[in-house]
Amino acid sequence: MKDVIIIGGGPAGLTAALYASRSGLSVLLLESDNVGGQIASAPLVENYPGTPQISGMLFADQLFEQVMGLGVAFELEKAVEIIDNGSHKTVVTEDGRHDARSVIIATGAKHRHLGVAREAELVGRGISYCAVCDGAFYKNKTVAVVGGGNSAICEALFLSSICEKVYLIHRRSEFRADVAIVNRLKSLPNVTFLTGCVVDALEGAPSLHSIILRSVETHDVSTLEIDALFVAIGHAPDNSAFVPHVTLDDEGYIIAAEDGTTNTSGIFVAGDCRKKAVRQLTTAVGDGANAATSAWGCNMNSL
Ligand SMILES: Cc1cc2nc3c(=O)[nH]c(=O)nc-3n(C[C@H](O)[C@H](O)[C@H](O)COP(=O)(O)OP(=O)(O)OC[C@H]3O[C@@H](n4cnc5c(N)ncnc54)[C@H](O)[C@@H]3O)c2cc1C
Repeated sequence: MKDVIIIGGGPAGLTAALYASRSGLSVLLLESDNVGGQIASAPLVENYPGTPQISGMLFADQLFEQVMGLGVAFELEKAVEIIDNGSHKTVVTEDGRHDARSVIIATGAKHRHLGVAREAELVGRGISYCAVCDGAFYKNKTVAVVGGGNSAICEALFLSSICEKVYLIHRRSEFRADVAIVNRLKSLPNVTFLTGCVVDALEGAPSLHSIILRSVETHDVSTLEIDALFVAIGHAPDNSAFVPHVTLDDEGYIIAAEDGTTNTSGIFVAGDCRKKAVRQLTTAVGDGANAATSAWGCNMNSL
């Protein structure tokens, strides 16, 4: 029996492990795939306070080593269910079962991919899923954003203040985004809307230099030369295994309070898997610290 099981070895889960372990709790960290989570695939991180530049992989490695150095138990196992036994919880994985007084869910979210050939190969070489993270690398350059929701419009607004030229690509002529921000984007002189078309192919080696657009109506194709393509077609959290112990919003994110508490006593949540406005390293690690502190309070109360 551990004091706390943390599901997910990304920045939120690792920070929760760091705080929980340093507050004297025994910790088991479960990770299904790669330690470090999403940030491990970021070529360069420039917005983490106190660390002007670091590769995402190095950031993840250092954080994992720091946590392992504290004696945190670690298993490469995917959690598939939580059983609430009242005073303790059982986390069922694909490989076994583990018991703890409390559980922190830090399973993150994945950006939806375009599904176009060479997309994975060009991540960090012209393909990005985060304007706040990578926009500064394309200062005074020409970029495109693909998507039609609020996040795509916000990404394009953000990039319009950094880049020389921004194209907004959307398959429909109507937008799901709020009318006010769409109109604001339309009013900017360095932004051009390309509606009714989809991205068919990515060109350039080793970095992206152009994309092939296809008209949804006529199927005509054209080439657009750009330095970067920001894909903003949504995120996909995967929290269904933890229902009914946690409540999900319409998009599948876990609803939690500021301190990570959920609707079930002893189950906490941290990072990109929770409902929140900003999904970044800084907010993920803040959530991890909050959830671990709440788990510590929960363990103290149960003694
Ligand atoms: C390419 C890229 C570049 C980025 N660049 C930046 C940047 O420069 N600056 C910045 O601030 N942010 C950046 N971000 C965003 C940042 O990486 C995320 O906000 C952050 O990683 C969220 O941390 P997290 O721990 O909540 O989730 P994640 O990083 O998603 O980690 C969740 C972990 O949980 C694991 N997991 C999921 N389900 C289970 C399960 N059932 N059982 C066990 N384990 C499970 C996953 O495998 C994953 O390792 C970037 C993201 C990407 C994709």
